[in-house]
Order: sequence, then C-alpha cells, then structure tokens
Amino acid sequence: MTTAQGGTSAAVEARQLVKRYGVVTAVDGVSFQATRGEIFGFLGANGAGKTTTLRMLCGLLRPTSGMALIDGIDIQADPLAAKARLGYLDEEPFVHPHLTGREFLNFVADLYRMPRGQQREQRMARLLSLFDLAQKDGELIGGYSHGMRQKIGLASLLIREPSVLLLDEPTNGLDPRSARLVKDLLEELAARGTTVLLSTHILEVAQALCRRVAIIDRGHIVAIGTMDELRVQAGSEGANLEDLFLKLTAGPESREMIERLLES
Ligand code: ATP
Repeated sequence: MTTAQGGTSAAVEARQLVKRYGVVTAVDGVSFQATRGEIFGFLGANGAGKTTTLRMLCGLLRPTSGMALIDGIDIQADPLAAKARLGYLDEEPFVHPHLTGREFLNFVADLYRMPRGQQREQRMARLLSLFDLAQKDGELIGGYSHGMRQKIGLASLLIREPSVLLLDEPTNGLDPRSARLVKDLLEELAARGTTVLLSTHILEVAQALCRRVAIIDRGHIVAIGTMDELRVQAGSEGANLEDLFLKLTAGPESREMIERLLES
C-alpha cells in the first residue's frame, strides 16, 4: 500500500539501498520490508554490510542511492519526522561517558522534549532497575562495563517509547541473564506493536526471536523469509538456521582452511 509520502505501509523499508566508499561497495541494492509488530532479523558474516544498512535506515549515513523509509517516511527527505519514530542502538552505543546513567536518560528525554515530572522519573527508575543499573546511580557511564553501556544505551531508547527499534547486535556483550532479559523485552514490545529490526551474529537469538530474517552476503541479500521459506530457498529441508546461513553465505570451508593451516 502506498502512503501520501510515497512510501508504503511497512514500518521499516529498505528500497534498493546502495552505499559505496570509493571503490568498496559496502551495500549493493538491499531491499526489504518489516511490518508493524514484527521482529525482523538481519544476519550476515563480518563485513557483509549489516551495520552500513542499519546506519542508512536510521539516517546516520546517507545512501549513495536508494531510499530508507520509517513508517513510510523517507528519512533523508524528512529526517525529524522519521527519527521521532525510531530508536537506534549502534554496535558501539552512543552514550555520554561524563554523565551518570540517570543524567544520560534525562538528557535523552530532554532532547526529545519529553515532559519533566513524576511520570518521567518513574519510567527512568523502572528502566534503571529493569537493567540492573539502579545500584550504579551516581557512577559515571565512563566507568561502565561494555554490557552496562549496552544496557544504558537500550534504556535510552526505551525511555521515549519509539514505534521502531533498529538494534545492531543488541545482545552483544551481555551476560546470559541480561541477554534473556533483552530477548523477553523485545518479544513483549513487539507483541504491543513495536517493530524491531535487529542484526545479530548469534543465530539462536535470530531463530528464537525473529519471525523473518534476511541474510546479507557481501552487500547483497541472498535470502529472505521465515525459516520454512529459507529452507525452500536453500533446498535444505529440516535444516536449522546455522546450516542455512553457512549454505547461503558460501565461503571457503573452515575445516579445509584449518587443515591447510595446521599442515604448514
Ligand atoms: P560486522 O558484523 O563485522 O560488524 P557488518 O556486516 O556490520 O560487519 P559493515 O560494517 O556494514 O559490515 O561493513 C561492510 C563493508 O563496508 C566492509 O567491507 C567494510 O570494510 C566497509 N566499510 C564500512 N564502513 C566503511 C568506511 N567508513 N569506509 C570504507 N569502508 C567501509
């Protein structure tokens, strides 16, 4: 369905996105759509183009060509309207090292002009407690561990309840309890209508959480769909996501490479 802004009714849409850095084409014609309330997984090997695609979708990088749409809004044409709807967690979360967790949440809430008052205070307290950061109150983020920075980064998105979450490796560096918390939270948010697009190397996370996944390989989408659809595309009945991933992103067989390494 096409909207007044020329977009579609998809919550997130990549339309023929291309990003070139000189002679390197990092992303080469990537197209997909995620619908409202869907958890959509974006999978690919190191350097495949996941972060570059997410950064174009959130407006952090300008595409060489193509379009990124959030709720049907072209993020390059109307960045403020599109960005007001989304929350983006980078693989290295943008957090302020000289603020405490609470100050940072307040700073983000101010940036987005959330009204001050009891409701905001309550939401901040709940988020800090949910992510097990309440006891760190008063400590500067600069002293946080990687996992704690990841959690305060997530909390800074959730403070303002965006309808679309773009998350680059959201469980990266989290301990098993925190990773489980994030998975449960994302499922609950999606059930309430939030659209989640996440990139991950952890295939179990994708298999457990995502209704559909896209597999990107050297800048191209090589497969997209539900697990059953991917099995059909790969011609591998009964395969799990790891088998499918390895088959669809065919690289040199690691066993062969290990043997060659150990021979020399
Ligand atoms: P990883 O899983 O390792 O984070 P990725 O799938 O997120 O990888 P990208 O970071 O999107 O991959 O990188 C895709 C390609 O683009 C890589 O070949 C990378 O070297 C190249 N690239 C990314 N950023 C730049 C840049 N600023 N300048 C030049 N090349 C870049």
